[in-house]
Amino acid sequence: MSQISDELKNRSLSVFDRLVEAFPNAKLTLNFKNAFELLVATVLAARTPDKRVNEVTPELFKKFPDAKSMAQATVEEIQSLIQKINMSKTKAERLKKLSQQLVEKHGGEVPSTIEELTALPGVGRKTANVVLGNAMGIVEGLEVDSHIARVSYRLGLTKHTNPDKVEQDLMQVLPKEVWVKYTHVAKELGRKYCRPKNPKCSECPVNDLCPKIGVK
Ligand code: SF4
Repeated sequence: MSQISDELKNRSLSVFDRLVEAFPNAKLTLNFKNAFELLVATVLAARTPDKRVNEVTPELFKKFPDAKSMAQATVEEIQSLIQKINMSKTKAERLKKLSQQLVEKHGGEVPSTIEELTALPGVGRKTANVVLGNAMGIVEGLEVDSHIARVSYRLGLTKHTNPDKVEQDLMQVLPKEVWVKYTHVAKELGRKYCRPKNPKCSECPVNDLCPKIGVK
């Protein structure tokens, strides 16, 4: 979106305000106590419901509370604690590699810039934005998952469906101070009303503000 009209910016904010009203308690649904835990939980949450991730992380973090302990664990030890998660072997390998890099390159700490985070194995912009925005209070961009990409497209806040391009568009139409909150309320909208198939437009809280792009 090269030219952003005031009308679009105003409508985007109206959508945001309405969604906050509709989902006042919307927040990140992954449980975590620090940036390392959120980074690990986000890796586990790829194609897995957050609820299931929350079922395995208490034991996982009890055994491996930091990057140093997880880096020293075997893949089998990690995998045995995340059996309920899909692709458990691949994700266990990923967590070990990630922890090793944190120890080798960052003294065991989670780095606080998007460039350093996305240089870690298996960490893309989505994960980096989740960790920065929710565990460190640093806002450099917006997390765009499949729900956020879909609802933002249907709402006409972006002309794209590619997550990186959606993120760039959202950064232009929404003020920075609402980016993190928008990701929480947009996900709720996607889960409850704006589902991939048969969206419930007639019951949707932003029905009157939505051009329903691509909805048949
Ligand atoms: S009105 Fe329909 S298309 Fe628009 S956000 Fe709501 S459910 Fe999605």
